[in-house]
Formats: sequence, structure tokens, C-alpha cells
Amino acid sequence: MHEKCGVVGIALQDRDAARPLYYSLYALQHRGQESAGIVTHDGFQQHSHVEMGLVGDVFDPDDLASLNGSNGIGHVRYPTAGSVDSCCAQPFSVSFKSGSLGLSHNGNLVNADEIRDELANLGHAFTSDGDTEVIAHDLARNLLEADLVRAVKRTMSRIHGSYALTISHDDTVMGVRDPEGNRPLCIGKLDDGYVLTSESAAIDTLDGELIRDVRPGELVVLHDDGTGFDSYQLVEQENTAHCFFEHVYFARPDSTIDDNLVYEVRRELGRKLWDESGVDSDVVLPVPDSGRAFASGYAEAAQESGVDIEFAEGLMKNRYVGRTFIMPTQDERERAVRLKLNPIKSTIKGKTVTIIDDSIVRGTTSTQLIELLKDAGAEEVHVRIGAPAIISPCYMGIDMATRDELIAADRSIEEIRDEIQADSLSYLSVEAIAQSLDKGQDELCLGCVTGEYPYDIEGEETDREVDRPVIGDQTMEADD
Ligand code: SF4
Repeated sequence: MHEKCGVVGIALQDRDAARPLYYSLYALQHRGQESAGIVTHDGFQQHSHVEMGLVGDVFDPDDLASLNGSNGIGHVRYPTAGSVDSCCAQPFSVSFKSGSLGLSHNGNLVNADEIRDELANLGHAFTSDGDTEVIAHDLARNLLEADLVRAVKRTMSRIHGSYALTISHDDTVMGVRDPEGNRPLCIGKLDDGYVLTSESAAIDTLDGELIRDVRPGELVVLHDDGTGFDSYQLVEQENTAHCFFEHVYFARPDSTIDDNLVYEVRRELGRKLWDESGVDSDVVLPVPDSGRAFASGYAEAAQESGVDIEFAEGLMKNRYVGRTFIMPTQDERERAVRLKLNPIKSTIKGKTVTIIDDSIVRGTTSTQLIELLKDAGAEEVHVRIGAPAIISPCYMGIDMATRDELIAADRSIEEIRDEIQADSLSYLSVEAIAQSLDKGQDELCLGCVTGEYPYDIEGEETDREVDRPVIGDQTMEADD
């Protein structure tokens, strides 16, 4: 399961933005490892450097020196399998009649094909099958007829799905969050400018200060001279649909998203996991890395309730192993867990063990992990998951799995327990997720765990009234 992208935008007073953008992308590297890019503008022209690879490999000092200008945007991307292609690397940049445009997108539109068809019929030529290019073309077209704010509003009224965008229009940098606020975006202040970014950890990296989250449906325009920003609430929506998996798994523990520090939320989820389904065992082990905060909250709550469970690091992670699906055979893929994780036998042998993980997607890793622990001498292995069971795919920009591949899509918890050979298995409830985030369920996206989505997705149920825009003639509305 992978987050697909991280975005950033920066406007500074009188120094080049390339290096702060580069450091921000380093801080966001966990959100995408396939490509990285920066687009800057020096007041006269746009400069761009986008390549496949990790941030540290994509840019050398000469590349950064060539990215002139005190304003710009950046992007890291993890495309889904099959579209690992430089044509989809971002920021997407284009020059058109009213100037230059750069776009960095985190999320996924569910009506991109309809808009692409309409624009293609009007003569727009597309170079990729990505939805970011669709947004760029739509915005470029609207900018021919309207000022910046009206053009963005017009594009927002046409696109349906999740998006956190940083956009550069010549040397103006702005950020937009979709009306449901599905993917994160926040504003930070630097000594000599402002930054928009997916996660506040990037602001910390620049020695800046988090101001606040960009509000769902809000456009934030950074002043070109780095002295401030303007806010435009372009769409008001009754309910939000924040992706709860940001706090469970995707985001860095040191980031604050929608007013909640990720680390504290994970510890609280661990505490709730103990309250809902705690099991007495000798030792509790986190599955690295995101299971760590869950497990410490779980062990703490157990100890507070008088049950003496040792919290131990029993699984060591090899940080230099890449994605498992590039291994050519099933046999090799199955052995990959041995490359990734190795047990510390003394913390496991002869003991009853509880492992805490954030999710079970296909079940393959859990099965191998339990086998690994039993081979290392564990007497019992109990599994506790800090999220509800994933029963449906994600259409909002998370590279997850198809419904056929999801182990919980058509199995009961007891059937999953049996398949992964655990002694017991429990998931966290949806209620506990909402409580830990201090939000109502109608403020969250829970699509992958309930099968009901906050967007109108063909063939799927919705959990609210959703208005999918009608895509027809591309004409400007009189009142927008
Ligand atoms: S479906 Fe799941 S992973 Fe996708 S946005 Fe919603 S909560 Fe997040």
C-alpha cells in the first residue's frame, strides 16, 4: 500500500527557491520514490527539472543552480504499477497563451476521462494518460477567459475526486485542496517566505513554522514577493472526507495533519486497540515502522489496566530492500519478507507474542511474518491491526490493491485468521478511528473499510449526497 505523491510550493523574498524545494522533497520522500521534480520561475521564464528516481539522485548541484527564481513548486511521485513512466512524472509544466503553468498533484480524479474527452474534442493535445495534465489543460483554458481565482474556481467546479495541488502560474505559487479535504496540504511560514506542502515535517525541515492546514475547498495564493498569502474559500462543502489512512500509515509520525499530530494519533489508536481487543501475552512487538507508535500505546494501556506486557523491538527491518513486486517469481516474492524483516530470537523464543500492524492488504506478509515468529520459537502469535479491515479498493490516489487481491474483501475475520495462521486476530473499529482523530465519521473518508465512498465512483456506493459535475460544453458560467 503506497501513498502516491507529495507536493510543495514556495515563495521567497530574495533567494532562489530551488534548494528549499529540494530539502522539502527530501522530507516528503516517503510519499513517493519513483520520480521527483521541481519547477521554478524567475519572473521572466519557467525552469524545470523532472526525472525518474529518488530526490537525492534526481538533482545534482548544477541542476539546482539552473532552477532560477525565488518561487516554485515540487513533487515526488509513486505511480501505480504499469504507469512507471517519465511522461507521468511531475510537476507537469506547460506554456500557453496566458503564460506558463506548473502543477503538482496528490490525489486522483474520478472524472478525468470525461474532461479529457471533452477537451480533446475541443482540440487539446494530451501527452499522458494522467489526470494532472487534464487539470492543467482545463485551468489553462479557463485562464484565457478569467483571472486566476475565477479560473481555479471554474476548474474546481468541473473536477471530481481528491486533489491537493500546488500550482505555479508564471511566478505566482498557489495551493488548492479539494472541497472534501481528502489529501493533506498545509501552510508554513519561513523567515523570508511562505511554503505550501503535503506534510508539516517539510516545514520543520526548513526551520519554518506551521501556520495551519489549507481548508477543504480553499485556494491559497502566496504573494510573489514572499511577504504573505491570500485566502479564497472557493467551495463550501457540508462534510469533509479526510483520508484516515494518512494518520494510520502514510504520513510521517512527526507531521501534524488536520490539527492532529500523527504520532499521538497512532499511540491513541494503539490504546484503543487494547481497550477493544487486548490479549494477554508475554510481549508486544511492532511491525516496523508504523506499528511502533501503535504498539507503544497498546502496551501502555495494557500496563495501566494491570496487565504486565513487555514492549520490545523483536523485528528488525532492513531499510535497503525495495519494493517486493519487482522480484520476478512468486517464490522470490514470498522469501522477500526474510530480506525485509528478521526476528530477534531472544525476545520471542518460548513466549506468547502479540504483533501490532497498521493493516493487512493481501495477507501474504502477515502469513510469512507469523511463520517467521513461530520458526523463531514463539509459542503463540496474536495479531492486532490498528485500523478496520480493508474490504474495498481506493480510488483517491492510494496504490492499494484490487478487490480480488484484498484478503478481507470476501472473508470473515475468522477465515483471515485461519489463512494467516494467527492464534487470534482483531481489527480496530471505525468508531475508534473517528474518536482518535476527534472527528465525526461523516468528516472522514472510510471508503476502503466500509465500501461506501465520499465521491461518485462508477459501480460503487456513496456514504453521502454527492454531486458529480456534469461535463458538457466548456463555457464560462456568468456567475463564477
Ligand atoms: S479509500 Fe481509504 S485509503 Fe483511499 S482515501 Fe479513502 S480512507 Fe484513504
